[in-house]
Amino acid sequence: MYNHIEGNIYTIPVPLPNNPLRCLNSYVIKDDKRSLVIDTGFRMPECLEAMTTGLNELDIDMNNADIFLTHLHSDHSGLAPDLASSSSHIFISRTDGEMLLDGLTNSWDRTAEFRTYGFSAEELSCWSDNPSQKYRQEKLATFTYIADGDILEYGGHRLQAISTPGHTPGHLCLYDRDNKIMFLGDHVLFNITPNITCWPNFPDPLGHYVHSLMDISIYDIRLPLPAHRQVTSTVAERVGTIIEHHGARIRELLDVLDVNPGSSTYELAGKMTWRVHGKTNSWADFPLTQKWFAVGEAAAHLEYLLARNRVRRELDGTIWRYYSV
Ligand SMILES: [Zn+2]
Repeated sequence: MYNHIEGNIYTIPVPLPNNPLRCLNSYVIKDDKRSLVIDTGFRMPECLEAMTTGLNELDIDMNNADIFLTHLHSDHSGLAPDLASSSSHIFISRTDGEMLLDGLTNSWDRTAEFRTYGFSAEELSCWSDNPSQKYRQEKLATFTYIADGDILEYGGHRLQAISTPGHTPGHLCLYDRDNKIMFLGDHVLFNITPNITCWPNFPDPLGHYVHSLMDISIYDIRLPLPAHRQVTSTVAERVGTIIEHHGARIRELLDVLDVNPGSSTYELAGKMTWRVHGKTNSWADFPLTQKWFAVGEAAAHLEYLLARNRVRRELDGTIWRYYSV
């Protein structure tokens, strides 16, 4: 199935089973000469079925289509090599493309890093169940790298790539200035807050993210197109709300740290409030897949505070323990 957005722009809803994001909005710019597919879904049968059905119904032949990946996450990039024809370009930023390929060749084992957050050996042994591992690309893709300011032209749309590091180190949005359309990827989502986590070789992800939010808020956007869920406000309003949200999380983290000095990232995350599927969950009921995200997010907030000398940390064996300054 697909939905018509306007003109020659369509969206294919791609289900994401057992994932709080529920669904990916894959966008298609349809053109007789060459079409563009933006983001693809996990490499799992339900996603492949939705994509191939949608593309067939839209009469898109992948021999005459390219793929643009807003970022490396497997719910966006997982199916790209399976959908691409031998003539399809798969566009992505160099930063995210190289990380993806590095992950495929070197198994992207980040258990050592997550051990420093305070995960138990038992939890770390389940690392391969992490959705980033399970549903990622399997074939080695050949990417065409896109940089900030590059222009792609499809179906009468001039699309400018805008570098928006934060959600991933190399996240890109696409902006159609003439029609004031922004393909947002996961940079700005409306009903959910984009996950911000820590990355190897990408210090202070939350600081980058807040900068990238400010960057995007100065564009004139009539039609924002996020990769998940619906649009419920203007981008500028949503940017304000997201920045406020992170401010509140940082204040909560500092409050928790004040009464629990010497806690690990895992322990701090366990004392913060989290909402999954619209309800507040206790840490004990938290599924492990969500703990990876929650602890990663707490780690990103701690890194923000560390970079600004608002907290300090000490290594206790293999675990970092945090203190207020
Ligand atoms: Zn994402």
